[in-house]
Amino acid sequence: MPEQQMTPEQQEELKEKIENMSPEELKEYQKQQCIFCHIVSGKVAAKKVYEDDKVIAILDINPANPGHVVLMPKEHHMIMPQLPEDELLHIFIVAKHLSNVLLRTLDVRGTNIIVANGPAAGQRAQHFMIHIIPRREGDGVEFKLPSNKQAEEVLDNIAQMVRKRLNEILGVKEEKKTAMDIIKERKKKVVEADFKEKPKKKEEKKAEEKKDEVKESKDEAKEEKDDEIDLDDIARVLNG
Ligand SMILES: [Zn+2]
Repeated sequence: MPEQQMTPEQQEELKEKIENMSPEELKEYQKQQCIFCHIVSGKVAAKKVYEDDKVIAILDINPANPGHVVLMPKEHHMIMPQLPEDELLHIFIVAKHLSNVLLRTLDVRGTNIIVANGPAAGQRAQHFMIHIIPRREGDGVEFKLPSNKQAEEVLDNIAQMVRKRLNEILGVKEEKKTAMDIIKERKKKVVEADFKEKPKKKEEKKAEEKKDEVKESKDEAKEEKDDEIDLDDIARVLNG
């Protein structure tokens, strides 16, 4: 990374420069810094296995297994939500065919298809990509997912929140419950599940209960506010 060789003054200067960039300039700057964009443009060599007008697939230079392919859009996008949906559709169709081809041409029994979406998920590249990793039993490649117990009430709460938001986005009609019904129900269930809440002073709790009563008496027209509460509660559930 070039940033690491910079003096603090230079870093500050760069930071300021980036902050003053228009979205177009910023994207252009990101492209210049992105090794995968240089692969797309041909400036950096790679073992290409597929290319069309939208996507390119290359062999991973440090494969988890032989035949490990990375498939990416030619356009620079950092994370999945930035991709236009028609391009997402196309790239996943190509991923399906790549997976099938790997199964047939290499002597393997399965594939893992992986997207690391954001640094917290282990994304290291600045360019969105799909990893397609050929697998054999006992090949030593391990994805260790912890298998944690979670109270049914907590599962229900999460499912409810996700369903509600997704249905709003995708335009599917949710059951007749109001947002306030769901929040009230969830609060009750979280307490029932003996969920580790941050300890609160008695006065705070009482004040909150009063606030809830006031809210309940109003109608449920405050969708946006409800959403904020949802996010906080999700964070608390997940962090707990
Ligand atoms: Zn890029």
